[in-house]
Amino acid sequence: MLKHVAPHKQPEISAKRTHTLLYKVQPEGRGSGQVESLYSLLQRLAYEHSLAPNRLVCMTLANDPDIRATMAPSTTAPTHSYDSNVKEWNWGSCWTWGKDTPNLMIGAGLAAMRWANALEIASGNQSLDECTLRGLHLQISTNKLVVAEARICLDCLQQDLTTGRMPYERLLWRMRPVSCCPIHRKALLSPQCGKQRVKHKDKYLRIDYCGACKQCGSLGFSCSDTTATPCSEADLWRAEQCAQLLVALSSNWHQLPGKMKTLMKAQVEATGGVQAFAAKVGIPKSDISRWLNGTSSRLGIDQLLDIAWVEGVSLPELLQGNWVEVNIPKGDRSPLRARRQIKKINHDQLRQAMIDAIAHGKNATQVARTMQVSTKSMKSHAALYEELQAHAISRKQATDEHRRSMALDEAAGVATQLLAAGEKLSLRNAMKLTGNSWYPTELRAQCLRVIAHVLENAEPPMRGRISAATFGAAIAVARRLQSSR
Ligand SMILES: [Zn+2]
Ligand SMILES: [Zn+2]
Repeated sequence: MLKHVAPHKQPEISAKRTHTLLYKVQPEGRGSGQVESLYSLLQRLAYEHSLAPNRLVCMTLANDPDIRATMAPSTTAPTHSYDSNVKEWNWGSCWTWGKDTPNLMIGAGLAAMRWANALEIASGNQSLDECTLRGLHLQISTNKLVVAEARICLDCLQQDLTTGRMPYERLLWRMRPVSCCPIHRKALLSPQCGKQRVKHKDKYLRIDYCGACKQCGSLGFSCSDTTATPCSEADLWRAEQCAQLLVALSSNWHQLPGKMKTLMKAQVEATGGVQAFAAKVGIPKSDISRWLNGTSSRLGIDQLLDIAWVEGVSLPELLQGNWVEVNIPKGDRSPLRARRQIKKINHDQLRQAMIDAIAHGKNATQVARTMQVSTKSMKSHAALYEELQAHAISRKQATDEHRRSMALDEAAGVATQLLAAGEKLSLRNAMKLTGNSWYPTELRAQCLRVIAHVLENAEPPMRGRISAATFGAAIAVARRLQSSR
């Protein structure tokens, strides 16, 4: 006879784990000055799911209703699912995947908050705003707070590898005033591949990953042959202050600037008024008055660092309204921020440079860079500027035309050979025939797809992502093949 067994106690409903869209990949370096940037976390999430970051964003995240509501609360969602370009749905500036994304994701703006929320929902992590500078948005001007381009400390990345974790990008490295690694006391480097071009990985096999070389794929930029230069004491001090700021941001951070402004008003009085204080810290008098008297007025992080440096106090404590003196390297204590210098433009030289550029096939950006002028200065030479632009456009058209005809010729050649052999016009067969991979995103593959469709169905397919001109030319090739069969 079976013994009566009491059933196992079931867990409470609320204690059950809820499913999340993605794995709960935790940010590295939480609560320290080495905290991972949100952008790096997103790339790591994509990597762990074997997806390209843009696929993770535009397909996976964009199709989740909760995430969609977080990222674009005001727009009504279209009924069908999303494809590669979320931007087309007009979801507002923060919900895009482009070159500005890293900046938007980690800065102090609204986009950073939304991205952090979206990834919290997707991965089940808490307080991901610690991987952004959002906590500073009421105290520090969002202008010039972060840098758009990636920077790395090779030693930190190597250290990640030796401790057995994937190398990751520190939020600190994206802060504009930071120019060196406070741990290794070396200047940050812009990531560059040190290998010869020939050895580079197939561009379709490369991964987009903060801690790995985009060119050759080596983890922690082991390929790099550049060595970082030692940094100055003043640069080190600024980097350390920013690292301490990140630590402070992760615990009981008060975002309201009122207490700081009250403290600063008293300090300014003690220095002898706004004029004396402005001269001491090297900030225009009007900026100081506006900052102290306007409730929502903020100073830039460079200006605040200068105040902390000249006064010898801690920046995170200053922002919280506390006057805490810290050690400052001995020597010059004048403000570090470089004064803006207005350079006089030699317009004769600029004109000549523009004429040379037209003759040698250079574009406006190259001229602006070599002459160190803005496009606005170039536009004052209207006729030359227009000519420069027109040349650039016709050069681009010529390159596009060349690229298109190469792709079409290749697709037409392959199609002819496959038809003669009685084989299907597929990318797999094209690969067998040519001996190299045919990726669906390649122009030649798109052309072959159109040709195959016309031959099979006697009508063109949806245009997809190729240009109208290429599309038309591919259809013409298909019709020609059809009539010669
Ligand atoms: Zn380092
Ligand atoms: Zn490399």
